[in-house]
Amino acid sequence: MRHLTIVDTTLRDGEQTAGVVFSNQEKLRIARLLDELGVHQIEAGVAVMGGDEKQAISDIVKLGLKASIMGWNRAVISDIEASLAFSISTSDIHIEHKLMTTREDVLERMVKATTFAKREGMYISVNAEDASRSDMDFLVQFANEAKKAGANRLRYCDTVGILDPFKTYDNIKTLIEKTGLDVEMHTHDDFGMATANALAGVKAGASHVGVTVNGLGERAGNAALEEVVMALKYLLDTDLSFATARFVEVSEYVARASGRMLPPWKSIVGSNMFAHESGIHADGALKNPLTYEAFRPEDVGLERQIVIGKHSGTASIKAKFLLEYGKEMKDEDAAEMLSRVRALAVDMKRSLFDKELVYIYEDMLKQHK
Ligand code: MN
Repeated sequence: MRHLTIVDTTLRDGEQTAGVVFSNQEKLRIARLLDELGVHQIEAGVAVMGGDEKQAISDIVKLGLKASIMGWNRAVISDIEASLAFSISTSDIHIEHKLMTTREDVLERMVKATTFAKREGMYISVNAEDASRSDMDFLVQFANEAKKAGANRLRYCDTVGILDPFKTYDNIKTLIEKTGLDVEMHTHDDFGMATANALAGVKAGASHVGVTVNGLGERAGNAALEEVVMALKYLLDTDLSFATARFVEVSEYVARASGRMLPPWKSIVGSNMFAHESGIHADGALKNPLTYEAFRPEDVGLERQIVIGKHSGTASIKAKFLLEYGKEMKDEDAAEMLSRVRALAVDMKRSLFDKELVYIYEDMLKQHK
């Protein structure tokens, strides 16, 4: 199986989410959790910010994790001394309107920074910011000059998230064919395609994938760690041996630390992933979970749950009572329960709490006496 490196940037791009700040304690905990999951490389932050940020990076380095730690910088020589990765824009819109310079100057700055870092014996990842909107010929030239100057990796950045998987595949394939450089995917979710684009890049030959826990990150966020790792395993047959059963634990910790709660419908780790309400689905899932589930709940640390509400059937009510309360329910009782449940669910405009279900059951038994 080919080697793929998962680069987690929860502590860098994830923390750049508007309004999110991690404490240094939280950063250390997140770094440890990522390492325990099996993440290969951790972008720990931006050293040049100094203060707490710099302290957190050096404390993370001192943890002695299996994962390698990467610092992050702009392509300015004074920034690089403490760190290994740097960034410069390659699209004309960024070059003209943000850097207010020329393509030639971008190449010169990048080569200068790479040559300097190489002399210090560093592993160098050159980030082509806004790569997805860059002129392809210029990007190839940029990558080839980076390689010549000693860069080890090009980070292909879909900065504003405008790629689709088909375009991603073509671009990455071309880039690798024309440069032979290792490519890291860095995708954003503005059109909901960050994970799909990351996978398309992998299919086209990218060797590194950048992710964040819960897809945290600027604007709509990045490709989610848990989505990419599970999709690689189940859809692309590439098992990276991650401790996937801890995904929910890690997602919940990062959700709390970031103050960005997980929506119930979140892919892979959302609380609804294994909740079945409709009668047909609950019945199928109980007979054989594979009928309505793509993987097992325990693979990510979730539990299967039968939700009773408007769309339930008698089979789900019977199954819920049997599995969760050890009670065998007669068919006619289940039918009566169902009509009471439906009326209440419509009245309340929601599914029922377990406790409510028990009360309905008890009321029904009393009336039968
Ligand atoms: Mn980003």
